[in-house]
Amino acid sequence: MPDKNVKIAVIGGGAAGYFSAIEAATRGAQVTIFEKSAKVLSKVKISGGGRCNVTHACEYPSQLVKNYPRGGTKLKAAFSQFSVSETIAWFKNKGVALKTEADGRMFPTTDSSQTIIDTLAKAAQEGGVQVKLRTEVQRITPEAKGGFQLQIKGDQTAHFFHKVIICTGGNSKEKAYHWLQDLDLKVQRPIPSLFTFNVPDSDVKDLQGLSVPQATVQVPGTAWRQSGPLLITHWGFSAPAVIKLSAWQAIDFFERSYQFPILINWLGKDEETVRAQLIDIQQGEAKKQVSSKGQFGLPQRLWQRLCEKAGIPLALRYADLSKKQRNRLIENLVRCPYSVNGKTTFKEEFVTCGGVDLSEVNLKTFESKKWPGLFLAGEVLNVDGVTGGFNFQHAWTSGFLAGQAAAEAG
Ligand SMILES: Cc1cc2nc3c(=O)[nH]c(=O)nc-3n(C[C@H](O)[C@H](O)[C@H](O)COP(=O)(O)OP(=O)(O)OC[C@H]3O[C@@H](n4cnc5c(N)ncnc54)[C@H](O)[C@@H]3O)c2cc1C
Repeated sequence: MPDKNVKIAVIGGGAAGYFSAIEAATRGAQVTIFEKSAKVLSKVKISGGGRCNVTHACEYPSQLVKNYPRGGTKLKAAFSQFSVSETIAWFKNKGVALKTEADGRMFPTTDSSQTIIDTLAKAAQEGGVQVKLRTEVQRITPEAKGGFQLQIKGDQTAHFFHKVIICTGGNSKEKAYHWLQDLDLKVQRPIPSLFTFNVPDSDVKDLQGLSVPQATVQVPGTAWRQSGPLLITHWGFSAPAVIKLSAWQAIDFFERSYQFPILINWLGKDEETVRAQLIDIQQGEAKKQVSSKGQFGLPQRLWQRLCEKAGIPLALRYADLSKKQRNRLIENLVRCPYSVNGKTTFKEEFVTCGGVDLSEVNLKTFESKKWPGLFLAGEVLNVDGVTGGFNFQHAWTSGFLAGQAAAEAG
């Protein structure tokens, strides 16, 4: 049963904070959002290149959880209650239609993140949510009789609330979590996720802007590999094959100080298939020069570079391609080696791997197991997804469930 007299503090005016505040207020609670900066929803504003990739067209929770390197199957209970279809319905109910792009990412049909901001701001206002800007909460003190006292920066008086929802987002600095550790909450070391690879001595840097649709990037000697589009940049490599790998191996790469070898399979095909197809090409195009036309759908300039790397002279015809040269070309096509040395944060989307350990919360309500009445939602938790709208989906889901549970009596 919702309790109309319950006073709820939501700390953080981001996606999770707004969603939890709106849900709690809709259920009759008196809600105040405390936001330390001068603006709310600032990440929503810049998200998805200004278009806001709200969620991902992924119907089943069992599939959805596969996109969260941290969180994973532990999120099933939450997604079974509020998932992608509920997000779509929620926004539709507020007059926002979402569209799905070919790769499954969902955006507002306006292609503007401002649509999402305006919708959240309006829903919060209609629910009577108070928003306090430039108000940083520095300490939460649980009261013996229930409820919490909030200490705000520059304010001597403590503020009492029956319930508190912490939605302070991710931060790659460990000290940003100290005030939560004061509540004896276990925090997993925060480090960045979703980044591109720097390859200072890349011999294809000058081909920046060229991409292949289905490459595989792997770290030799490990099972770490991801496939997908790959983009050559002036600093190394980017696009989903690399960014997905950065998310799944965020901790491994951090521990290697972002220095590790990679092998690129430009075609994402196994060696034997490539060999058989190349022999077919060699027989079918015997009189043509090997370098003259990009094969396997590779851009011509990249194909030519891989031929060069394999020591194939520019004028050499397929008929004169030796077995040794063919093998070297195959090696460059399926196991092209590079040395990663450093990372660059992906400009479209980056998140924190780490945060408050999921063992600290009830995964159906996001209520703290140690402190009843205290909830945590969004990126402050040790949950992060790959790119594609999964991070917001977690913010909506955890925010909604936390807001709903916090508004309940008790
Ligand atoms: C450039 C960029 C683009 C992105 N694009 C996408 C995208 O298109 N799709 C997607 O799914 N994900 C995207 N993400 C990730 C997504 O934005 C985050 O996962 C999501 O915003 C997390 O929401 P949150 O509410 O948990 O945290 P945040 O949005 O980070 O909000 C936390 C808020 O809490 C405030 N705060 C912190 N500490 C305190 C305190 N002590 N007192 C008061 N206030 C406090 C902060 O100022 C902040 O406003 C993107 C991220 C970036 C950086």
